[in-house]
Amino acid sequence: MKLLLNTESFSGTGFSHIIAKNGDYILHSKNKNALIDGDNFLNTFQQKAEITSSMTFQKFCQDIANRKKGTITFKVNGDNMRTLTYTPLDNCDWYLLSIVPSTMYSQNIQNFISLAIAVLALGIAVVFFIFIAFLLYTSNKKNKEITNIAYIDPITQGFTQVRFEKELLDRAKDFVPYTFISLDLRKFKLINASFGSENGDKVLRHVYVCIKKHLAKDEFVTRVNADNFNIYLHTIDEGKIKERLHSIADEINKYNQECQLPYYIPLSCGCYIVKDNAQELIVVRDKANIARKTNKNIPNYYLCNIVFYNDLEHQMLLKEKEMENMMEKALDEEEFIIYLQPKVSLKTGKIIGSEALVRWDSPEKGLIPPDDFIPFFEKNDFIIKLDMYVFEVVCKILRKWIDEGKIVHPISVNLSRNHLHHPNFLEEYRKIQQKYEIPDQYIEIELTETVVFENLEMLKTIIDEIHKYGYKCSMDDFGSSYSSLNVLKEIPVDILKLDRVSFSSENDKRGEDIVETVISLAKKLGMETIAEGIETIPQVELLKSMECDAIQGYVFSKPVPVDQLETLVQDDPEMMSV
Ligand code: C2E
Ligand code: CA
Ligand code: CA
Repeated sequence: MKLLLNTESFSGTGFSHIIAKNGDYILHSKNKNALIDGDNFLNTFQQKAEITSSMTFQKFCQDIANRKKGTITFKVNGDNMRTLTYTPLDNCDWYLLSIVPSTMYSQNIQNFISLAIAVLALGIAVVFFIFIAFLLYTSNKKNKEITNIAYIDPITQGFTQVRFEKELLDRAKDFVPYTFISLDLRKFKLINASFGSENGDKVLRHVYVCIKKHLAKDEFVTRVNADNFNIYLHTIDEGKIKERLHSIADEINKYNQECQLPYYIPLSCGCYIVKDNAQELIVVRDKANIARKTNKNIPNYYLCNIVFYNDLEHQMLLKEKEMENMMEKALDEEEFIIYLQPKVSLKTGKIIGSEALVRWDSPEKGLIPPDDFIPFFEKNDFIIKLDMYVFEVVCKILRKWIDEGKIVHPISVNLSRNHLHHPNFLEEYRKIQQKYEIPDQYIEIELTETVVFENLEMLKTIIDEIHKYGYKCSMDDFGSSYSSLNVLKEIPVDILKLDRVSFSSENDKRGEDIVETVISLAKKLGMETIAEGIETIPQVELLKSMECDAIQGYVFSKPVPVDQLETLVQDDPEMMSV
């Protein structure tokens, strides 16, 4: 285009510029007669040109702004008259200006302008085409690189998880039942640790090649992370899946046949047979992973342990059904028993309270821990009855201590979140408390942290209610999941129970700093602090130095039957020397 503008026309006296709507040059001619002084044609024109036609400079500018075409005659420094023709260019805001001596202005000039416009349009199209071609070339190259990174696992050279998912999603349209397998090398950490990660990578490649060898044309495998593989199999018959997985395990371990010191690589497999297209991929994978993880209990001498998710689901349903059948009778026949775990003051070393923790003493199954039945009772709402029952037993214990003139300390009870959906549930608690005439100060209610995030407003109302009744309220498991220091100031509890995860790793300076900050913040907000799950003396010492108020944990006592706790309190009220 520059060439075109510089081409001399009309014996070197004609030239063209391309300008933007505001007069700025886009391209300008290098012709010696060209009016170039600065970056803007309109400014130069206004300063230097003396308009000789009836046109005004304003009208000229308006035309340019409104994309009109026209001509204007002018002189510069008393020179010969010249004619300027301005024409808007298609598809852009630009103008073509052509300036020729007026004596030469004739029909020829129109031909010249039309030709200039045609060539310009062609020029723009060519430049545009080259530009797009360049973009396509570079982006294709980049795309290819990105696709490789996204789709090819650098270690096995097989599918990445992204590619695997893409293949699965592609098949979702014409769905056919399949089996999703999560496969794990049970000794991989050992391999990495003993033989180095380079050899570890070789093992992963070997495993990948062996699996791949046993797959049909439309089946595929990916290494998801570390030593975990996912496989898509068409086989949906459990027996046949087992057969196929066993032959994969044999293939992987074949190299041992020639070894004097065999080193076996056993596999853990979780299988989920996907029968419909309704579940999201993430759910499918989770189910296969859950099945694989339950492999833990299977002895290690098998080369390939296989668990099907459907079995688990079935077993779980059976277990829940069984519990459902038994729970009401168990409550009537007092199979739920209360253990108490002491809370010990770090200032005095004395037992200052205890927590009621329920167990199910089943004649058929023995002592069942709460984690095995509470989640299910929360699902079917039976927890409401059970919590109320626990509270009643606690009131009976307190009544007995008062009546027998024993040392009485507050007992806390756990309150499941299910209660929060039942308005006036505290009324029920009040009735029981009144039945046994228990003074308010002996009652403490533990709310769990998860409740807070479900509904902070509701929780605040509940805490206010608990306070109105005169009971103490503690925040259980603080630090176990979502806790944020921000919510601390929002929740007006009396006691903060720091979850045991906060102390689970040793020499964790950062973790310690956080605990210390939480303790001092709680103090500032007028809350007492108690650390849960404390198992060692160094933990006790550390918490003492942080001025934590109390401790609950195996270091002093596990949860024990009521009579044992009474003995602990009566015989040795000072659990530790402080
Ligand atoms: P939680 O309220 O956080 O209770 C503390 C749990 O930590 C208890 O487990 C206790 O035995 C355990 N623990 C205490 N000290 C230590 C320690 O030093 N090390 C370790 N590893 N663990 C320690 P438990 O008795 O099995 O109770 C589990 C959970 O079941 C309780 O956690 C609570 O959420 C729930 N739960 C127990 N009883 C009831 C109840 O009556 N009602 C409701 N709603 N939930 C209950
Ligand atoms: Ca608790
Ligand atoms: Ca707790």
